[in-house]
Amino acid sequence: MKRERVEHSRNSHGSPLRWERPLQSPPTTAKDAALLNGVLMRTKEAPNSSELVTYAPFTLFPTPVPKAVFQQALDVQTHYNSLVDKISQNADFLQEALASTVEVDDFTSRLFKIHKQILKEGSSQSVVLGLNRSDYMLDQKEDGSSALKQIEINTISASFGGLSAGIVCVHKHILKVAGRLEDSMAILDNNPAAGLARAIAKAKELYRSVRAVVLILVSDTERNIYDQRCVEMELMKLNIFTIQRTFEDVHARGSLDKEKRLFIDGMEVAVVYYRNGYVPQQYKSQQDWDTRLMLERSSAIKCPDIATHLTGTKKVQQVLAQPGVLERFFPNELQVVEQIRATFAGLYTLDMGLEGDKTVAMALQDPERYVLKPQREGGGNNIYGSEICKVLQEAKGSDRTMYILMDKIKPTPSHNYLLRRDSPLTISNCLSELGVFGAYVRQGTEMVMNEQVGHLLRTKSSVHADGGVAAGVAVLDNPLLY
Ligand code: ADP
Ligand code: MG
Ligand code: MG
Repeated sequence: MKRERVEHSRNSHGSPLRWERPLQSPPTTAKDAALLNGVLMRTKEAPNSSELVTYAPFTLFPTPVPKAVFQQALDVQTHYNSLVDKISQNADFLQEALASTVEVDDFTSRLFKIHKQILKEGSSQSVVLGLNRSDYMLDQKEDGSSALKQIEINTISASFGGLSAGIVCVHKHILKVAGRLEDSMAILDNNPAAGLARAIAKAKELYRSVRAVVLILVSDTERNIYDQRCVEMELMKLNIFTIQRTFEDVHARGSLDKEKRLFIDGMEVAVVYYRNGYVPQQYKSQQDWDTRLMLERSSAIKCPDIATHLTGTKKVQQVLAQPGVLERFFPNELQVVEQIRATFAGLYTLDMGLEGDKTVAMALQDPERYVLKPQREGGGNNIYGSEICKVLQEAKGSDRTMYILMDKIKPTPSHNYLLRRDSPLTISNCLSELGVFGAYVRQGTEMVMNEQVGHLLRTKSSVHADGGVAAGVAVLDNPLLY
């Protein structure tokens, strides 16, 4: 069998890819470490089988990240939690922010209809559980330093809080094998799943039924199942029982009683944790939409509830970046406003009217400077370069309002080896995206938990403009702070 060999000659002393002692097959060592530490995914061939599994793709080495910007991302997270929570409670704001989007975007419009229905009926649950992940890239400034810029915030099904813990062990091991003991010790411990589980447990406690369970709303095909399992394991450590059900299961066997308590298969549900339902294709028919409505109407604690789901849209992100908007949510907290705003990239409306026309003209003039973003999740949906011109020029009527325009963030590339099943081992020019996990629980008007619970670094080859790990583009990584 041909041995894989990492090229040592390229690695000058001090390079983040350096080996301080010779080694036969670093990629195999790394892959074995990933398998041993549960950095796993199901395969494309057998996406529902736990018989044939593989390692989740990852970088051979951690990626250098400046300490100050990393800390800045951690520090702003509890403010982002508060912001998301405040927006979700402000029906007028959501209505106004999403008005132009719901007119042309069918998916957002369907979510919004559920939101309106719940508003009309009144919420049957005063406990709110939010688990989110705010993602950033480090924009390279002219002086060589970098600025933390938010890409988006995910308020539903934010993933990889589970596999993050394992990838820490993998990189610690690899660095030791490479003779870089000091770097190995510098890799930060990180287990977001534990924090996510703590928040779910807190919410469940407030539901006040010892026997009620946590329902994880899953899809029928899930390659990233081990990431979810990590959260389940963390919950089990806290003696909290989880069940996994699809929209179909809930439709077939779920029901609400007179007090809108949710039951399925004889069990009362305290918390519904969505790991499905964030892209249109996951609603296979009207029946799945009806089921989402039933879950939202129930007195189970939804994570997220429909308003919080809508708060994570790119349109809301764009509206927040307009002057004076953040101040509405933090009227007496100028410092919080500044801290959040410092992470905003340029975001531009495409609403019909003068402002939107200006955005179009700007984009057509220099499309390489921007990203055109629809209201979608999961990676692979954004539009770049000349395609932006095509889409904007061909948009009919108010079609353009399904998108927002955003400044393209240009991080400093770094070199790394991306380890992915059946891919040749080559050194890649890479870009990284840092995510920070937030968890909060509110009961009525009182925040009973508001925390930053860990991070995620994902790295992709710079040949790809878009895409996350699940989309098959980015791979798991760790920051090596400097
Ligand atoms: P999704 O909800 O589909 O993950 P994102 O906003 O995260 O949508 O965009 C997907 C990917 O596109 C990101 O992971 C990132 O690689 C790239 N991307 C998005 N916005 C920008 C931007 N403003 N500048 C550079 N790259 C971006
Ligand atoms: Mg997203
Ligand atoms: Mg994203």
